[in-house]
Amino acid sequence: MNPNTDAPLFEKVTLIGIGLIGSSMARSMRGKGLAAHIAVCTKSASSLEKARELGLGDSFTHDPVEAVAGADLVVLCTPLGAYERIAQKIGPALKPGAIVSDVGSVKQQAIEDILPHLTAGVHLVPGHPVAGTEHSGPEAGYAELFEGHWCILTPTVETDAGATEKVSELWRRMGSTVEVMDARHHDKVLAITSHLPHLIAYTIVGTATDLEDHMKGEVIKFSAGGFRDFTRIAASNPEMWRDVFLENKEAVLEMLQRFSEDLTALQRAIRWDEGETLFKMFERTRGIRRKVIEARQDKPDVKPEDAS
Ligand code: NAP
Repeated sequence: MNPNTDAPLFEKVTLIGIGLIGSSMARSMRGKGLAAHIAVCTKSASSLEKARELGLGDSFTHDPVEAVAGADLVVLCTPLGAYERIAQKIGPALKPGAIVSDVGSVKQQAIEDILPHLTAGVHLVPGHPVAGTEHSGPEAGYAELFEGHWCILTPTVETDAGATEKVSELWRRMGSTVEVMDARHHDKVLAITSHLPHLIAYTIVGTATDLEDHMKGEVIKFSAGGFRDFTRIAASNPEMWRDVFLENKEAVLEMLQRFSEDLTALQRAIRWDEGETLFKMFERTRGIRRKVIEARQDKPDVKPEDAS
């Protein structure tokens, strides 16, 4: 590992996608001097211009092939649905020894979309920072986003250990704690801790949206009763979440099946006045909340200037 913590870890890092996660990485890496050169590549003219204005990189382009030329590390920070096309384009342009990583919320499909397009001698180290907000775009990012959060890396059995260690060090220097995990295991764990909660939030807010007009007004007025917290999650990026559900289909459907069974059991308990069943269930879940607090996972991510 790099013993000199003042020297950049990488000579050239390319970020493809400069939204919430890509721009947060750019800010953190720039602030800590982790890359000598940051190349920014994104799809729209407006995001590229914004990234330039915000000084998020040293070079800017719409062309992924140009962006990855000579890069030691390329990080895909786009929605998952764009991975395969990007990998096809950049695969032949990567320099030998380059590391390709990503930040996507689903890992097995990410590997299947990227790996076939990489040549021998290029290393794939998939990653997922378990940090984020409901905001999108280059302006939404902030340097502290990853601090105190997990970053899960899911190298394959063939991944070079040195490449995994280098990407681990990058995330540690950006303030995260790194955990290495099998990609399929990651997808199951995240299906219950992140993907299902988002699906439930989208559903409940959708149900409220379909209520008769006179009820809808009351929903907003009395939203502090619990609904408000769901609206924050259900405001998350629709493109990103569409891709998450399509790309983690199997694990999400398995967790959804279990959830539906438990919901039906609660429905039955309410119908038959089984107070004891309800009480026992709610008492058990209170214990989980205590454990979340003990593990210091209870603070929502808020951009420093938005914090009140
Ligand atoms: P975001 O704010 O919407 O940013 C996405 C970026 O990708 C935008 O800069 C967009 O470009 C760019 N992009 C889309 N298609 C592209 C393409 N074909 N070529 C080049 N650039 C392209 O999204 P985000 O929240 O940063 O999420 C990015 C990734 O991080 C996703 O895979 C997601 O699963 C993962 N993630 C998100 C969170 C979260 O809380 N948001 C947390 C952890 C991981 P334009 O703006 O130019 O169109």
